Amino acid sequence: MPQQNLKQLYIDELKDLHNAENQLVKTLPKMAKAARSPDLKAAFEKHARETDGQVSRLEKVFSLLEQTPKGKKCEAIEGLVKEGQEGIKEFKGSPALDAALLATAQAIEHYEISRYGTLIAWAKRLDMPQAIKLLQQTLDEEKNTDEALTELAEAVINAEAQEAA
Ligand code: FE
Ligand code: FE
Ligand code: FE
Repeated sequence: MPQQNLKQLYIDELKDLHNAENQLVKTLPKMAKAARSPDLKAAFEKHARETDGQVSRLEKVFSLLEQTPKGKKCEAIEGLVKEGQEGIKEFKGSPALDAALLATAQAIEHYEISRYGTLIAWAKRLDMPQAIKLLQQTLDEEKNTDEALTELAEAVINAEAQEAA
């Protein structure tokens, strides 16, 4: 693929991700509010703060490119958020609510991990070392969040089983 086309694809995908992170800035506090487990609440609150920083990092990447992050909507995150909202409604007041929130959160983190991984590969090909560093910092946060959620999932499922018994 000619370098110029890859660069355009890279910019388009960065815009999509910037929109995705902005959607998550709004969604994560709602998920924190909905969570029953205090640990899960705290995990969502922590990642909401990290996500603010991730938006700023992406904006730095755009300023390095002398571009603005406008004109894209991430339909994938919009869809995952919608599914998550259905879960919150359906399982409100039920011990399964946290399990539903965790499942949505992990689907979101996996999407982000895949996107940041791809963007880092493209930034390497395009020889953009500052962008690689910024994107890698965010990828590390997404991976750590996913791991923390995996641990919480076990605790939450155990607590729910006890509550149901
Ligand atoms: Fe993120
Ligand atoms: Fe997307
Ligand atoms: Fe994330």
